[in-house]
Amino acid sequence: MPPDVQLRLIREIPPLHKAEIHMPGYGVQYDFVCPTQLSPSLQVKSTQGLFLAGQINGTTGYEEAAAQGLWAGVNAGRRALSKPPVALSRTESYIGVLIDDLVSRGVTEPYRMFTSRAEFRTSLRPDNADLRLTLKGFELGCVSSSRHQEAVRVKNSLQDALAALQALSLSTTSWKRKIPDVHVSEAKSNMLSGIEMLQYKDVSFQVLASIFPEALLPFVEFSQRLKIEAVYRPHCESNKREIQRIQKEENMSLPEDIDYLSLPVSLSKEVREVLDRARPSTLGAATRLEGITPAAVVSLFNYVYFAEKRKRTSHGNQRRQKEGREEELCASLPQ
Ligand SMILES: Cc1cc2nc3c(=O)[nH]c(=O)nc-3n(C[C@H](O)[C@H](O)[C@H](O)COP(=O)(O)OP(=O)(O)OC[C@H]3O[C@@H](n4cnc5c(N)ncnc54)[C@H](O)[C@@H]3O)c2cc1C
Repeated sequence: MPPDVQLRLIREIPPLHKAEIHMPGYGVQYDFVCPTQLSPSLQVKSTQGLFLAGQINGTTGYEEAAAQGLWAGVNAGRRALSKPPVALSRTESYIGVLIDDLVSRGVTEPYRMFTSRAEFRTSLRPDNADLRLTLKGFELGCVSSSRHQEAVRVKNSLQDALAALQALSLSTTSWKRKIPDVHVSEAKSNMLSGIEMLQYKDVSFQVLASIFPEALLPFVEFSQRLKIEAVYRPHCESNKREIQRIQKEENMSLPEDIDYLSLPVSLSKEVREVLDRARPSTLGAATRLEGITPAAVVSLFNYVYFAEKRKRTSHGNQRRQKEGREEELCASLPQ
């Protein structure tokens, strides 16, 4: 904003009508390399051996810069050792999402790593970062062997603990007898596993371990992680189903007359504007637009899918009503 406009704006505030500005606010501008010129290893496609990371790739932010620095460093090191480049996938890390967005879509404004950019954000959590990345980091030579050993121990213990919880399969009546304070829903299936019980707000792993000490006490140090895993599990599964469905419905047509600016769904103003400008013809085309997050695609898909379904149902009803009226008319005609 130009300094004179800043001054006018500040002086709009009644007690500041005589204020002076000693140092006006300023915008930070910088040049960047179009990141679609990079490969997923962050190496410049046209200049082998040159790796770029950080703000120069069109991002902004400390973590964004650090994440790319780490990945470019890993790959530069591998190249120096004549090893093939490595990439992280979108399903296993935010670094994977960040780099994939940069190199495949490019940027039109400084890129920030929002969680909404990740399709599988319910499984990309800080509590399970070691399971997702530490073992891989060890293979790449950037994790110490003591940390690796600990990650392996944790991974195996969590797997065993989840198997033990899954094996605790009791009827809802038995669970009610064992944990009377918790309202176990009758609507759920008749048999519930320990993992399903852990999804109840008032059921902690410690409570289950006190009821089944032999099976669960060995894992009590992971109580919090197991609770988080159990609570997130149904969300992760439905998230996965949603994304698979969207991938299958790539060719779904988006109505030409759709008014993105007033669509009654949860979409940010920026997303609405991008869709309104580009007016993609299919869901797949919308997915590939820069600035369109996976969360936005899910909202759009649900809206169009259910709107079409409602339309089909109402057409069906109208047709049936018409057929009904015709039948009545035929029946009333003299034979
Ligand atoms: C005022 C301000 C506030 C910010 N606040 C935040 C915030 O709160 N949170 C956040 O996440 N981000 C913030 N950012 C953004 C964040 O600082 C940057 O996106 C991030 O630091 C970029 O890191 P980088 O390593 O890519 O680049 P830089 O940190 O700019 O590092 C580039 C380095 O290269 C050096 N260099 C340049 N040319 C040469 C050369 N020819 N030879 C050798 N060295 C060279 C520079 O001196 C610099 O040290 C802020 C930025 C600004 C300007």
